[in-house]
Amino acid sequence: MSIEELARDNVRTLTPYQSARRLGGNGDVWLNANEYPVAVPFELTAQALNRYPECQPQAVITRYADYAGVTPDQVLVSRGADEGIELIMRAFCEPGVDAILYCPPTYGMYSVSAETLGISCRTVPTLDGWQLDLDGIAAQLDGVKVVFVCSPNNPTGQLINPADIRDLLEMTRGKAIVVADEAYIEFCPDASLASWIADFPHLVVLRTLSKAFALAGLRCGFTLGSPEVIALLMKVIAPYPLSTPVADIAAQALTAQGIAAMRERVATILENRLFLMDALRTLPCVEAVFPSETNYVLARITASSAVFKSLWDRGIILRDQNKQPSLSGCLRITVGTRDECQRVIDALNDQPGLTATETQ
Ligand SMILES: *Cc1c(COP(=O)(O)O)cnc(C)c1O
Repeated sequence: MSIEELARDNVRTLTPYQSARRLGGNGDVWLNANEYPVAVPFELTAQALNRYPECQPQAVITRYADYAGVTPDQVLVSRGADEGIELIMRAFCEPGVDAILYCPPTYGMYSVSAETLGISCRTVPTLDGWQLDLDGIAAQLDGVKVVFVCSPNNPTGQLINPADIRDLLEMTRGKAIVVADEAYIEFCPDASLASWIADFPHLVVLRTLSKAFALAGLRCGFTLGSPEVIALLMKVIAPYPLSTPVADIAAQALTAQGIAAMRERVATILENRLFLMDALRTLPCVEAVFPSETNYVLARITASSAVFKSLWDRGIILRDQNKQPSLSGCLRITVGTRDECQRVIDALNDQPGLTATETQ
């Protein structure tokens, strides 16, 4: 048997997640991964690395619990929110038996993690305005152990109606876990569902330091849930998921000062988002700019693939969403610095040779 043939079937057929750093490109304007555009300073305080780190560093857990308005026994810290997604599946889904359910267009890691683990995926496409099709979900729930809802949704940018999430939680009580992915909640903090965990022990909320906290390179995320859920996830997590330097920097990011700095960054991004959206709406090649509660903007653009390539060639890297259901012609643009937003606008303004035939 070849090495390839020795591998599991689901791994052989797997298409890995097209992460920002895997896609390549020689950009100098990186607007494809919803990162914060400038590096924030940090300093390591813990010097010793001879000992294994704490599995769940206490300072990180208590500070995050404070910040999120939950108790420490409702918090799990992991190597990014992406690890949280996988831990939930490993704890709740029997490979080959149970399924997960999600509602495209949405974040790509739910299917990648499920396929890697041999867990099947059910999809219930969203309705107009990318809201949940609750009847469609109800009809597909048999055998589903985990339902993923991303709110605000990546890549569309809007919140999922809280009343619909409440209906979903009623529908799934005693049957399935509902995961609310709140990776972008710092850009619309009032919309968080974290306070609902007390009423719905099957609700799990995902958070991250990768977006508003400007620490995507740190790899640190959080899962919030009832103490029973957290205890189950603790059984399947690696013994030392966070290195000592990661825990050190995460604890600093979650001090009062760190949180205040995060809120200032959010205010800056919201100003830049307004600037970007207003400017996009004036451009002839832009057909629609969708509302956003996040640090990115989805826009429908005439001849979007050609425009994507043209900007790519100029070193401006966006995310092409054309292949996602209901997103034909759509590009996702991360809100960068004011200067980066201007570079996008200038480049879109300067699209030569978009003739009638090419724009069909
Ligand atoms: C960025 C993102 C994540 C992953 O966050 P990490 O903490 O960097 O792993 C999870 N969910 C959504 C919707 C995201 O956009």
